[in-house]
Amino acid sequence: MIDGGADLHIHSCYSDGLYTPLQIIQLAIEKGIRAISISDHDTVQGVEETLDLASQMDIMAIPATEISAIVGNSEVHILGYHFDWRNAQLNKRLDWLCQERERRVYQMVQSLAEIGIDIHPDDVFSIAGKGSTGRLHMAMAIIKKGYATKITEVFKKYIGYGKPGFVPKVGISPEEAIDLIVMAGGIPVYAHPAISKMDQCILQWKGKGLAGLEVYHSSQSGQVSRFYEQLALKYHLCITGGSDFHGMNENHRSIGMVRLPYKYVERINQIKAEKG
Ligand SMILES: [Zn+2]
Ligand SMILES: [Zn+2]
Repeated sequence: MIDGGADLHIHSCYSDGLYTPLQIIQLAIEKGIRAISISDHDTVQGVEETLDLASQMDIMAIPATEISAIVGNSEVHILGYHFDWRNAQLNKRLDWLCQERERRVYQMVQSLAEIGIDIHPDDVFSIAGKGSTGRLHMAMAIIKKGYATKITEVFKKYIGYGKPGFVPKVGISPEEAIDLIVMAGGIPVYAHPAISKMDQCILQWKGKGLAGLEVYHSSQSGQVSRFYEQLALKYHLCITGGSDFHGMNENHRSIGMVRLPYKYVERINQIKAEKG
C-alpha cells in the first residue's frame, strides 16, 4: 500500500475501549494502516505494551493519551503525542484524574439510586477492568441490569448532562493538560474541536504550548475538517486525526474510518525530532 494513512485516536481496554492493544494492532494491520496511536482517557497504562507489540509487528505506534479537561460545564479533550509516558509528574496527575473518575462513579450510583436505578459501584468497576473508569462503563452496567438497551438511551435518560444521574466531572484546566504534555516532552493537540466548540480559546492555548489541532475525526464532516485544516494552517498548528474508535458499533466508528494522510505523521515525528 502506498499510503495507508494513520489513525492516531483509538481507545483500548485501558480506558473505555473494548479491544486490547494487540487486537487493535491486528485490526490496523488488516486495514493497511501505517501508524496508530492508542490514546486512552487520562492514562498511559497501555503505552508500553502498545509500543512493544507495534515494534514486533512492524507498524508504527506513537505514544499517546487523551486528557479530559474541564471548562465550566464543558469538557475539553487534549491529546498528547510523543511524550515520556514514564514522567513522574504526569503520572501523578493522571492518577489523580483516575481517582476522581472512581469517585464520580460512587456519586452517580447514589444519584441513580434516588430514581430507583439500582447499580453497585462494583458492577461498574468490574466492567472497566484494568482501565480508567468512565460513564461508558456506567452505561454498560445500566444496560446489563436491564434498565435500558442502548448506550445512547442511557445517556439521554439517565447520565447525560442535566439528567438525574449526571454528576459533573472534576478535572484540570486545558492549560494544565497542555502544560503536562509539554513538560513530559510531548506534543499537545486539541481533540475534536467541533465537539467542544471552543475555537475562541485556540490562540490562547497556543500561547500555552498547544501544538496541534485534530482536523480529522469521525464526528467531523469533510467540510468541518476543511475548516479546521485552514485554521491549523493559519495558526501554524500541526494536523492530526483519527477515528476515536472504542470497539463498539455505536456511531459506526471503526479503526481507520478516518485516515490521517501520512505526511502529517511525518510532520509530528519531525517536531519530536527537533525537540530532541
Ligand atoms: Zn475525546
Ligand atoms: Zn477519544
